[in-house]
Amino acid sequence: MNPITKAIRIQTDRTNEMEHSTPMFLTSSFCFDDAEDMRAAFADESNDNIYSRFSNPGVQEFTDKMVALEGAEAGYATATGMSAVFASFMALLKKGDHLIACSSVFGSTITVLNKYLPNYGIEVSYVSANDPASWEAAIKPNTKMIYMETPTNPGLDVIDLDVVSKLAKKHNVLLNVDNCFATPVNQRPIDFGADLVIHSATKWIDGQGRVLGGIVLGKKELIQQIYLFCRSTGPALSPFNAWVLSKSLETLDVRMERHASNALHIAKALEGHAKISWLKYPFLPSHPQHAVAVKQMKNGGGLISFNLSGGLESGRAFLNNLKMLSLTANLGDTRSIASHPASTTHAKLTEAERAAVNITPGLIRISVGLEHVDDILGDILGALKQC
Ligand SMILES: *Cc1c(COP(=O)(O)O)cnc(C)c1O
Repeated sequence: MNPITKAIRIQTDRTNEMEHSTPMFLTSSFCFDDAEDMRAAFADESNDNIYSRFSNPGVQEFTDKMVALEGAEAGYATATGMSAVFASFMALLKKGDHLIACSSVFGSTITVLNKYLPNYGIEVSYVSANDPASWEAAIKPNTKMIYMETPTNPGLDVIDLDVVSKLAKKHNVLLNVDNCFATPVNQRPIDFGADLVIHSATKWIDGQGRVLGGIVLGKKELIQQIYLFCRSTGPALSPFNAWVLSKSLETLDVRMERHASNALHIAKALEGHAKISWLKYPFLPSHPQHAVAVKQMKNGGGLISFNLSGGLESGRAFLNNLKMLSLTANLGDTRSIASHPASTTHAKLTEAERAAVNITPGLIRISVGLEHVDDILGDILGALKQC
């Protein structure tokens, strides 16, 4: 079966009611028939569920669908994207190890890398999204992992997965890719040689702004180590959220196609606008890594970034003059969202620190929703008039 079909058809065993849609498995623990049954489960001799911190049928259904979509061997679903990121570091790295991270990664990931990993003797160095071939120079004898996102947040730089994965293989280093922005229906890092893939399911995977969730996917022996770490430390995905997310996966492919076609239409319409000095969308020929984007992505995704020539004050005026788009700290929703990183998510950085990760004072990021494309574009054009 095609992974798109699997995302719809994979189901945990039906109960006696023969329900068509999978029910929710809202239970903290599971019962055993007798002492022998219980002994075998605890001895890992059976696949029986024991306790929902370890496993749960609804969480497993979501995990199995994600495994199919990403072309992974195994996965472990977590409460949030950040717990997936953190578990992938803590389960696989130890004191004395070195990690290379692209500097253009999610803000909370930067905090984990800067503030917490050094407490455990894990060394971190940063490389630039602009030149992946230069990452080789950062590799040291104790380098264990390369961590990256593509497209990046919020600048939408595209990093060549082929180049980085070859580098990782050559030096026997794990490649860990946060695939949140693209989703597996658009880009499959494992096909390009990544060892691990991370998601914040909170974003496009839920796609309706309802629940938090995350997942780590990859090779069986790596996921087993992550599973054992999580089973003991407790970042399990709630069975309710797993039910929501498993349902969401049934429509992920069609949703992402529309998000992307709306985004492409809007990107084309805004490119060259008098108030905009540059605009980035991976599937526009003007994108600096357009050739890489079309090689590794099926479509350009649902995010657009552009820079207002008027800088910081224009960015604030743009937000203030939107009538429909939401001002909210999220992305990947049916509702279109606008954000201005320099005055919000990245306001605590200095201008030089922002510039180092390609965040200019007038940078606007749009998460293009599923409203009619004319309404989204009309709202953006109206706000641009006031900048
Ligand atoms: C939101 C996000 C995360 C963190 O996910 P949460 O579910 O909010 O914990 C990680 N990576 C990227 C790229 C994100 O956008």
